[in-house]
Amino acid sequence: MERERVWKGEASREVEISFRRIKKALEMGNITLCIKEIMALAMANRATDIHLKAHRIFMRIDTVMYLVLDDIQGAAFISLIRGFHALTKGPQINQRKTNTGSFVHEALAVSQPGRNVSGKLQVYKIACRITVLPTTTGIMAAYIRLRDSHRIPPLDKLGLLPEDLEMIQRIVIQQYRGMGVFLVTGPTNSGKSTLLLSILDETYKKAGGGISVATIEEPVEVIDEKFAQISINSEAGITFSDAVKDILTCDQDVLYIGEIRDQASAKVVFRASATGHLAVSTLHARDTLHTFERLRDLGISTSEMSGHLLGIAAQRLLPRLCPKCREMYDASEDIEELERMGYAGFKNGDLFRRKEGGCEYCRGRGVRGMVTVLEILDVTEKDFRLALSEGSVSMSSLLELSNKQHMRTLFDSGVRRIRNREVSFKDVASSVHQL
Ligand SMILES: [Zn+2]
Repeated sequence: MERERVWKGEASREVEISFRRIKKALEMGNITLCIKEIMALAMANRATDIHLKAHRIFMRIDTVMYLVLDDIQGAAFISLIRGFHALTKGPQINQRKTNTGSFVHEALAVSQPGRNVSGKLQVYKIACRITVLPTTTGIMAAYIRLRDSHRIPPLDKLGLLPEDLEMIQRIVIQQYRGMGVFLVTGPTNSGKSTLLLSILDETYKKAGGGISVATIEEPVEVIDEKFAQISINSEAGITFSDAVKDILTCDQDVLYIGEIRDQASAKVVFRASATGHLAVSTLHARDTLHTFERLRDLGISTSEMSGHLLGIAAQRLLPRLCPKCREMYDASEDIEELERMGYAGFKNGDLFRRKEGGCEYCRGRGVRGMVTVLEILDVTEKDFRLALSEGSVSMSSLLELSNKQHMRTLFDSGVRRIRNREVSFKDVASSVHQL
């Protein structure tokens, strides 16, 4: 179930004006203007997704889904979906199947002013991928993903806790011996690929640019000319196995596979390591320890895991409480809950939550930006290697081993962020399960 929140536009003049403009353009039947206004609102607030469904417009900002406009009249709603789809310049929408396509949206916007630098007007390009689906009600729905395709954030700018950063550098970058597998796991929209691309960027820099890095993605999310990037497109006849063959024959050092989703991609990742590559990829698993089970289901033997795995990171992104309007509350119940889970030392006044309706700074949302919550497991440790080579991947033995290396779990990491007043207890508890 998607978390949806009402965006109290009236808390921010800019947002309120945007809402009104979108509504007015729709009422006038000016779809081009309406799309322009929707994209402007999305870009100004760094939205990652726009959803058009059930006569409503939603935007995902900082992991939270917000309602932008509801009760859109039927014909106008369909025209809006058609208008967005027309930007792909692809064939007409087929109402009996899933239609996908992409387009680049360009807009003039004022850059964020930095310290001693005033914002200046520049052209922003956002790569968008649209999926139009027929639904049971006969009304279509459209899902649009927005990607700022122009930069990979430097690893030290991801806002990781210092010890997480240090651990990633130790496991993947400093120990870079040219081979091994590093995996990042988490649900959709948890920033897995951004983390991996930042790690690759750092590895590349540390090696003085002397290594070649190839990526196979579906589609390529961030374009970077340092890397050889292949976008899988089955409609255009570029399949996953073709891409792998092409990449492995042209002498790459590091391979990034967008996602391990089946046995074939799992095998490729481990085979790449066995033939002397550093291979990194993402995977859907609950946390680091459940990744072993998932890999075994995908046909990877424990001896392969023992021989090649360097480490596994599990990641979640949580909305960051707005520093200007976050509010203290009577947190007695939450403190009790934390104590029950073994986190002592909290007192009333330590916990904060988002303010309903927010303020001008967070544009009425109560949150601004995201916080990364990470759990990192070092699989290069002797005990781990030994246990895996003996075929021992039961949950209890894995848990014991991870406790021995004092692994900080996702929940531990979330609690650290609560202590720092960066996130609310509610957001941690609803997004991260306890081990
Ligand atoms: Zn605020």
